[in-house]
Amino acid sequence: MDIHEYQAKTILADFGVSVPPGALAYSPEQASYRARELGGDRWVVKAQVHAGGRGKAGGVHLCDSEHAIEDACDKMFGSKLVTHQTGAEGKGVYRVYVEAAVPIEQEFYLGFVMDRSTQRVMIVASAEGGMEIEEISADKPDSIVRSTVEPAVGLQDFQAREIAFALGIAPGLVSKMVRTLQGCYRAFSELDATMVEINPLVVTGDDRVIALDAKMTFDDNALFRHPQVAELRDKSQEDPRESRAADRGLSYVGLDGNIGCIVNGAGLAMATMDTIMLAGGEPANFLDIGGGATPERVAKAFRLVMSDKNVQAVLVNIFAGINRCDWVAEGVVQALQEVQVDVPVIVRLAGTNVEEGQKILAKSGLPIIRANTLMEAAERAVGAWQNDLSMGHQLRIAK
Ligand code: ADP
Ligand code: MG
Repeated sequence: MDIHEYQAKTILADFGVSVPPGALAYSPEQASYRARELGGDRWVVKAQVHAGGRGKAGGVHLCDSEHAIEDACDKMFGSKLVTHQTGAEGKGVYRVYVEAAVPIEQEFYLGFVMDRSTQRVMIVASAEGGMEIEEISADKPDSIVRSTVEPAVGLQDFQAREIAFALGIAPGLVSKMVRTLQGCYRAFSELDATMVEINPLVVTGDDRVIALDAKMTFDDNALFRHPQVAELRDKSQEDPRESRAADRGLSYVGLDGNIGCIVNGAGLAMATMDTIMLAGGEPANFLDIGGGATPERVAKAFRLVMSDKNVQAVLVNIFAGINRCDWVAEGVVQALQEVQVDVPVIVRLAGTNVEEGQKILAKSGLPIIRANTLMEAAERAVGAWQNDLSMGHQLRIAK
């Protein structure tokens, strides 16, 4: 789960990281009021969306009057901000963060990520702050400092000092840098984050070390341990298909193709998507119904997949271990009776109770296209979708 910059800054400040004074606003008037409350004469108004690259996309405005703040807000509120991280559809701006403008002397990049190869938290830092890490690693790879943290002892002060020295920070500021690194590391590990990124972390003219931007991502599977983090979720920033699925206990990933996939297990989802591509099609999503799926759950899955207007064929691919093919088949039949499914449906079942499952599908009298292997299923899905386009929907299930 991603959170907003202002939320990440609040969390990091609790862990001892310095951030500029700032306040949240839901309207242009509130933004200028917040600026007055903050005091000073230069502010930065920042669109709160779950994506980086806002600066270059018109989502960060430096303002020197309340009038300029309202102007900047008028441009941003209600718009869709398109950055290189949002995709073409962009992300809606419903909140802005008003912050004191900070005089920047030096900018750093600071990131904390899970490094799968060492199975450790890795700190990635560079004195080339302000640029995206992808650009830094392409243009200035030598500037990148990497350091992995030994989980049994956590980040040690000497290790944090080593990073600070490697970044070439002034000796008088090393202890502030260590405090920042320690704060980020503790926030990362205590809150089960999967990523903490401060870009830029700046040194100011008056020798402060301040996080000007902050991004945090959390492990969804650990959110139950952190209700105070879980409640920071902002559904307006998520793919509505994915949040609807999450609310129903299903795991859904929206994609751009037109074959809807209902599967059990992420591995099977990957294999199904690969096979669809191999057969010349493109998946519209991957929807994982998980283990032990009841007919109701399968029906819910169909409703979700059919709510995506791009879906022109549905492929159900189940390898039942804990699941039971007969239950899945019942779910498919139930769904086709209840839900408006006006596209071809291809079902491939294997594993527990497969014969019973096939019988249920055959007896239903519904025009379900059956397949025995994954390749066959993918080819039939792609074929049915292509035929469907050329035959004027004759294969569609009449309701
Ligand atoms: P993004 O990474 O989404 O573009 P940032 O928060 O990093 O957004 O802002 C973009 C740039 O705006 C920063 O690199 C920095 O130069 C400037 N900036 C952001 N916040 C402030 C601030 N409080 N004071 C001065 N400059 C800022
Ligand atoms: Mg940034």
